[in-house]
Amino acid sequence: MKFSPVPIFIGFLAWFSFYCHAQFNLPLDSSAFVDTHTKPVVFQKKQTFAFPNGVGFSNDFPSARLNGIAQDNETTFTILIRPENSPINDSPWYAFKVWAGEDIMIRINLIYEHGNHRYWPKVSENGSDWRKIPREDYHSDALGTSFQIEVSADTLWVAAQEILPFQDASDWSDKLAGARNYVTKKIVGQSALGRPIIKLEENAPVNQNKILVISRQHPPEVTGYMAMKSFVETIWGQSDLAKEFRRRFDMIVYPMVNPDGVDMGHWRHNAGGVDLNRDWHFYRQPEVRAIFEDITRIVRKRGTKIYFGGDFHSTWSDLFYLNEQDTLAYIPGLIPEVLEGMALQIPDFEPDDRPGGYLSPTSKSWFYNYLHAAAVTYEVGDSTDREVIRERGKAAAVSLMKILLERVKK
Ligand SMILES: [Zn+2]
Repeated sequence: MKFSPVPIFIGFLAWFSFYCHAQFNLPLDSSAFVDTHTKPVVFQKKQTFAFPNGVGFSNDFPSARLNGIAQDNETTFTILIRPENSPINDSPWYAFKVWAGEDIMIRINLIYEHGNHRYWPKVSENGSDWRKIPREDYHSDALGTSFQIEVSADTLWVAAQEILPFQDASDWSDKLAGARNYVTKKIVGQSALGRPIIKLEENAPVNQNKILVISRQHPPEVTGYMAMKSFVETIWGQSDLAKEFRRRFDMIVYPMVNPDGVDMGHWRHNAGGVDLNRDWHFYRQPEVRAIFEDITRIVRKRGTKIYFGGDFHSTWSDLFYLNEQDTLAYIPGLIPEVLEGMALQIPDFEPDDRPGGYLSPTSKSWFYNYLHAAAVTYEVGDSTDREVIRERGKAAAVSLMKILLERVKK
């Protein structure tokens, strides 16, 4: 078989022009990030901590974080939580298992290095159904954080938020693809430690019109991940609106961008010690690079337009970060319109939108500058009611579908 050099050369030129554009043309706002790639990650030692009175703790499971523990008296323990490296955003994740030989009430003090307490502790008997520790059993102020829990021979899970490790993203993706013959799960690359970077998309993507969704760049941000699931399930749902939408638009979903960080119980970074949402200019990290290359391949196809890019995160309250400039987007002003559409569906919901810089090395800037997508960082409050999260994720999807069907000509 003979290969003609001409199409290969043209293909190379197309790739190279996109690559140069992506690599060099963005005037980066370097004040927008702290570079930590030279700060090595300290790996957490996985172990069981057993005490003479029969109380035991473990961090030997995915998403665990417990770096050290001391017994202060018969029923009081102080747990040390360290970040993967520093400096780091103040989102100290913790997760461990605890048990005892007999039923006993214990008190736990949480202390942190390089961070302050943030997440209201939650417990679970089975690792999937969670409840907050009652207010009367939990105290946190500037002097410290402590709570009391009843432990028994049955293992109790204690964590900052619901534990949703890489396996959850994998299972959810399999289930979604299994229940819908038009959706397929693919692996587009590997994390630094070899975990798959999952993509979900139509198994026969035919539409040049597309939307893009990513989530879980930051490991503890599980409420954003919950909203992402609701958003995606609505767009790939059975409503007439969704069916009509899918006739004209495809969706690309990378549900867990940072599987290493998630399974290592990191506060924010990947296994390379880097905030992935500050790598969308450099593509130094394998996770961002894999997605960058996959999207590059998709948009290289003539006529492809990605109208919307949504990146799901969590913070202290529900809010939406927008690009303060979006005149180059295929549909300028799309995100505020989507938020208005959400407000129409949900009584008393006033979206808190925050226009911000569009030149930072974040996904939001990248979606706009390189794809010309209207972009949003969809932030969900740490403590937002879990049903409300689902309801709002669904409303966002409904609003986006309606507007895109209306605004994009057939
Ligand atoms: Zn985040």
